[in-house]
Amino acid sequence: MYSKAQKILFMNRSNDTATVPIRIGIVVPCFNEEDVIRETNDRLIMLINQLQSNGLISHESSIIYIDDGSRDATWSIIEALSQSHPTVSGIKLSRNQGHQNALLCGLMTSPGDALISVDADLQDDLNVIPQMIHHFLKGNEIVYGVRKSRETDTYFKRFTAEGYYKLMSIMKVDIIFNHADYRLLSRRAINALSEYREINLFLRGLVRLLGFKSEVVEYDRAERFAGESKYPLRKMLSFAWQGITSFSTAPLRLITFLGITVSIVSIALAAWGFLSTLFTDSTLPGWASTVIPMYFLGGVQLFSLGIIGEYISKIYMENKSRPRFHVDQKIGTSFSKNKKNHE
Ligand code: UDP
Ligand code: MG
Repeated sequence: MYSKAQKILFMNRSNDTATVPIRIGIVVPCFNEEDVIRETNDRLIMLINQLQSNGLISHESSIIYIDDGSRDATWSIIEALSQSHPTVSGIKLSRNQGHQNALLCGLMTSPGDALISVDADLQDDLNVIPQMIHHFLKGNEIVYGVRKSRETDTYFKRFTAEGYYKLMSIMKVDIIFNHADYRLLSRRAINALSEYREINLFLRGLVRLLGFKSEVVEYDRAERFAGESKYPLRKMLSFAWQGITSFSTAPLRLITFLGITVSIVSIALAAWGFLSTLFTDSTLPGWASTVIPMYFLGGVQLFSLGIIGEYISKIYMENKSRPRFHVDQKIGTSFSKNKKNHE
């Protein structure tokens, strides 16, 4: 329970219209999650009831599921849950838009003084949510959920994930090590996030750009409760690449560096060839010295063009500024009043 003084402190902490107890929204993106969503809902409802009876959160707090164009029974389950629990609301996207867009839709559309984003598969430990709210009440606008260890991951996932975070730090991309998309954002932080209009979304990078006072809570990540990962290797690689190309121009600089290095080496080789014809009788080795550099330079050039192409394709997509999601349907008490929609 929070003391009256703490509550007053909270009321004065920003110019939000938040009243105490605070109204929170738990935003859960779902893609083909029929096997797990009922269990997730049971646990979330239990947590919300507990926080409400502690006087920490208001009775207007809600759980908002975003159905990201699922092809299984996910949406009908969300509809049923929303009918039997006033706490549950749902948004159905018009098609599968990907995790990041579904999450953004939830953040831009859901009401609450603070929103907590969490995966549907119960990998994120819900028991740290009270701690997140505690940090929010102490004046933090962002609270990051950070995994303590990766023991539950396969060796391959652990190795690639950790390598990736290291690569990002070499490229000077500011992301929090072992933090994915489990976080609390205050209304102020969400308003700031809504000013970022980019199509190539990499939320964990964008949130770092917001600044504001933030805090970290650590948790142990469990294995997926049921169902399969919706991030197969192909999607994971594409997401990783998105993170690099949306936040860093280091690969372009790498090309320049590569170009300079290859030029210096070839000048040196030319000098060596020239001097050896002047001062030695030996003839230049013919085939190898012609063909190998040709293939090598061809490869370097194609690789460089490819990277430049990746950035141009990003500019192309950003330039179109297409909507990042379309809402097909909204259900539940969170959306029954005329709420502002940021689509
Ligand atoms: N997800 C989504 N749209 C997609 C893929 C995934 O909304 O196109 C959701 C999914 O339902 C889950 C979260 O994003 O709630 C994370 O996905 P998943 O657990 O499959 O990823 P992993 O934990 O394996 O990286
Ligand atoms: Mg998962």
